Amino acid sequence: MNKMCDFDSIVIGGGMIGSSIAFGLAKQDEKVAMIDEGDNALRAARGNFGLIWVQGKGEKNSSYADLTLQSAKKWPRFNNELMALTKIDIGFEQKGGFDFCLNQEEFDERIILLKHIAENSNEQFSYEMFNHEELAKKLPKIGPEVVGASYSSWDGHVNPLLLLRSLHKGFQELGGKLLTHSVSDIKYNDSYFSVQAKNSIINSNKVILAAGFSNQNLAPKIGLKMSLFPQRGQILVTEKIKPFLDYPTGLIRQTNEGGLLLGDSHEDVGFDDGTNLQTMQQIAQRVTTIFPFLRDVKMIRAWGSLRILTDDRLPIYDYSKTCPGAYTVSSHSGVTLAAIHALDIASYIVKDGKLPISLNCFSAERFND
Ligand SMILES: Cc1cc2nc3c(=O)[nH]c(=O)nc-3n(C[C@H](O)[C@H](O)[C@H](O)COP(=O)(O)OP(=O)(O)OC[C@H]3O[C@@H](n4cnc5c(N)ncnc54)[C@H](O)[C@@H]3O)c2cc1C
Repeated sequence: MNKMCDFDSIVIGGGMIGSSIAFGLAKQDEKVAMIDEGDNALRAARGNFGLIWVQGKGEKNSSYADLTLQSAKKWPRFNNELMALTKIDIGFEQKGGFDFCLNQEEFDERIILLKHIAENSNEQFSYEMFNHEELAKKLPKIGPEVVGASYSSWDGHVNPLLLLRSLHKGFQELGGKLLTHSVSDIKYNDSYFSVQAKNSIINSNKVILAAGFSNQNLAPKIGLKMSLFPQRGQILVTEKIKPFLDYPTGLIRQTNEGGLLLGDSHEDVGFDDGTNLQTMQQIAQRVTTIFPFLRDVKMIRAWGSLRILTDDRLPIYDYSKTCPGAYTVSSHSGVTLAAIHALDIASYIVKDGKLPISLNCFSAERFND
């Protein structure tokens, strides 16, 4: 380590991506600080649905389909490592997941989409289509309007808040230092970085930007580029009911405590992370069409949270050509990709000093006009 440096690496942002990477870096004996702004920030990590979701990802980019599937395959090992270290059960399950189709057109379109992804996938993405009768054998409570569903054995779910807690705990048990500050500036001094966090300056050899929307302001300071925009999703939570849903789905999942999470709205409302009745009604209506008996179940709370998106919906993995040692990561599938961020991306950063060629297509340079 450069003698000016307090740490090998500083990860800026302790959300889903920052904590996965920081955990992975600490696992490799790096001296790591993770600096997180805390409760004032917009934090997708605390508002998401908790799916590890493969089906449907990477329609226009087979590298993304492969990355997603690789991460899903690594999730069992990642979960075991986290659990052994932290003793926190994050509710990980990977029995496969369903995505419902409510009319024949949706069903036919889903077949075309998944066939296309499977044909282009190097990682051997596979799926099945279930018609109503076949689906009813797996999920007996579906309503008559459900035409069918797609199924991928790689899909799963976790409790995202426990995942975050576990990553933070694991990171600290591995010797990582968690600091609660807002980072306002980063300077590159030829061979090391100076990070301004509140009134202190912290120096490190490497900087990994994983600060959600703040990546946009911080990236240009270290020769990186970001182009992100928000999209709101609202999630409804019901009272706890008897277990009836053995599989997560794109729209509804049952937690191991019995409560249901209902979601999957997509709204273009800028940085407003509130809720509204109309969207909640639309979610509830679709869910009760799929499972009519849920009409009698009480909703107990709801929230809105902002997805961090790029124009092409693909992640950004980039490293700075002008400030070696600076990296940035952004993705709207931080739960799904947590395993690959912790197990692989962190080791590329430690060992190679750059990112592998397979990630070149995710450089933010693709947004250059
Ligand atoms: C409604 C919804 C549902 C979702 N469902 C899923 C899902 O089912 N599966 C899935 O894989 N993904 C899902 N996601 C996406 C997932 O939550 C995000 O991909 C993930 O949280 C992004 O991680 P991040 O670290 O980039 O951002 P965040 O998790 O938002 O974390 C950013 C962190 O940076 C910190 N920060 C910001 N600015 C600064 C600063 N200047 N200095 C220091 N710290 C700073 C914040 O405090 C925050 O903790 C969902 C998202 C939403 C909104």
